Amino acid sequence: QTTACVPIELQERSYAIDIGADLLHGMARQAALPTGTAALVVTNDTIQPLYGAALVATLQERYPAVHTVVLPDGEEHKTWQTLNLIFDALLTHGCDRKTVLYALGGGVIGDMTGFAAACYMRGVPFVQVPTTLLAQVDSSVGGKTAINHPLGKNMIGAFYQPRLVVCDLATLDTLPARELAAGLAEVIKYGPIADMELFAWLEQHMDALLARDRAALAHAVKRSCEIKAAVVGADEREAGLRAILNFGHTFGHAIEAGMGYGVWLHGEGVAAGMVMAAELSRRLGLVDAAFVERLTRLIARAGLPTRAPVLDAQDNAGRYLELMRVDKKAEAGEIRFVLIDGPGQAVMRAAPDALVRGVIDQCCA
Ligand code: NAD
Ligand code: ZN
Repeated sequence: QTTACVPIELQERSYAIDIGADLLHGMARQAALPTGTAALVVTNDTIQPLYGAALVATLQERYPAVHTVVLPDGEEHKTWQTLNLIFDALLTHGCDRKTVLYALGGGVIGDMTGFAAACYMRGVPFVQVPTTLLAQVDSSVGGKTAINHPLGKNMIGAFYQPRLVVCDLATLDTLPARELAAGLAEVIKYGPIADMELFAWLEQHMDALLARDRAALAHAVKRSCEIKAAVVGADEREAGLRAILNFGHTFGHAIEAGMGYGVWLHGEGVAAGMVMAAELSRRLGLVDAAFVERLTRLIARAGLPTRAPVLDAQDNAGRYLELMRVDKKAEAGEIRFVLIDGPGQAVMRAAPDALVRGVIDQCCA
């Protein structure tokens, strides 16, 4: 029933990303599931009533004991306190190091479960069962795990790879439209940085994706995972290349932080941020105006914002620059932008403040 299986080859461990519809129900038959004495399903109060029972039922065929811990839903709960609820559950149930954690949910659940798996008894196996488009095409693949600190997003975490990623496309049926669009921003991202064929395909299939056509979703998830797997495989710990996955994210993070987290979804900030990064690339002579126009049009068709918000009525560009200088990816206050060096090719570089200010002035609503 699996429509695709994308391998990801890494130094410490390689694993598979299974993509298809209704994979959740038959998961126990998956040979690649890690064996263990128990399974702990980590999910939240939105997803548990939708898919919790189905996952527990199938895992009961494989594990002597299957427990569930239900966390509160929301990025604001991606905290140390919530993480501790996972450890509480593991210890209360007397779970040993042969326990397998299952992350059933979006990127928040995936990041927290992965980090818990990295820490519990210095490391237990975990499986990603991503249920948002963003998690299926991005966060569940590559082994970055983290929680937020009041002073910064994703500041506490570890590189820790899952044993398997199972993308059940059927779970996307219940995803709110706004969350689906936010996931599409990360799919679109892969085009300009790596694959203009994917970009052209997206131009032709955007309506099908928005209608949640299974075949279209399968292709988008598969191609996205292939690109992410290749990039991460070449640069597991983000020494260089992996940073290209942050196309649109430098401006996007400033939007998210400047608006207050949760006002704009991550993908929405990335969408407007990609337009800004493309425009900056144009001003540096790397791409032409037609490319920027084409990217802007595709983002709009996905139902995503193409114009960034004004963050400060007095000195908007100054506020953006200030926020981008404290971003995790900045080095000694120098902002490193992911730019498009001709369609399908990314490059990392700094840019003169005056040029960046011009882009911000032009791109903000
Ligand atoms: P999310 O996990 O908050 O999910 C979005 C919302 O959709 C939540 O309310 C969730 O409960 C709900 N939901 C999830 N699946 C559903 C379904 N099938 N049906 C109905 N509702 C559903 O957000 P997200 O966009 O999936 O992930 C964002 C997080 O991912 C951020 O914390 C970000 O830092 C992280 N992230 C991590 C990486 C990485 O490499 N580790 C990459 C990108 C993003
Ligand atoms: Zn992102």
